[in-house]
Parts: sequence; C-alpha cells; structure tokens
Amino acid sequence: MNVISKKLFLFLLMILMLAPTLVNAEENRRVFMCSNCQMIIPAEKMPSSLGCTKANYHIWANLGVVGLNVFNCKKCNVIVYTKLIPNAAYTKEHGYHYWIRLGEFGEKVFNCKKCGVSARLKQRPGSSQCPKVKSGYHEWFGY
Ligand SMILES: [Zn+2]
Ligand SMILES: [Zn+2]
Ligand SMILES: [Zn+2]
Repeated sequence: MNVISKKLFLFLLMILMLAPTLVNAEENRRVFMCSNCQMIIPAEKMPSSLGCTKANYHIWANLGVVGLNVFNCKKCNVIVYTKLIPNAAYTKEHGYHYWIRLGEFGEKVFNCKKCGVSARLKQRPGSSQCPKVKSGYHEWFGY
C-alpha cells in the first residue's frame, strides 16, 4: 500500500470503529485517550494499560461521555465524539488539550486537505486552526 491509501485505510478503520457505537440512547461509555500514544477508545471501563506504542504503558485519560458533538484539539489534532466539551486532559507531547467544537455528528465524512484529519459530521465545519499550518486553518472537503 502506498502512504496515501494506508492513511485512508486507517481513517476508514477509525470511522468504522467509532460509528456504530454512537447511537445508543443510554450511553455509558467514556472516551478514553492515551496521553502517550494518543490512541482513542470508547469504553465503559478504563481499557488495559498494555500495548502502548510510545511508552511502556498506556496512560488513559477519561475525556467524557460518548456523544454527538464533534471536537478537535487544535494542538494534537485528535477528533473525539462526546456529549459535552471533553476534559482538558494532559498529554505528554502537547500539554493540555485545547478543544474546538466542529459541529454535530452525522453521515458525511470531512477531511482536512492540509493535515489529513477526518471527522464525521452533519455539515461542513467552520474554519478552525489546523496544527499542520502555522496560523492557518483546516481546509475541509467532504462527501
Ligand atoms: Zn498509549
Ligand atoms: Zn490535544
Ligand atoms: Zn488541518
């Protein structure tokens, strides 16, 4: 696989992992994110600390209840789907998260042309800072 199709494959995999999990009415899951490797897992309990790719162990931060709001951290660029604004948990690489709300979860997939980040939304997000470009903005295209 070339780099682009590998990247695309990972995005689709992430979307597949996240998407069917977003429709429960009684939502007990939290979004957990490892502050070492930035892996994100929606789960009811804190996931296992084994298998971190950046350190000996995952260090999980509970970002909040899984939900239909789409947030992007303008420092580390992760996308999370939570009910309320996620916690400003500490990450090794970027310090505390700085969350920007992109919109409501939906059927459309939007990608930023500049940094490649991908999110599922109802409609195209407004402009917010893209971490890949100095004082630049995400440039979203979607279908
Ligand atoms: Zn980790
Ligand atoms: Zn962050
Ligand atoms: Zn971007």
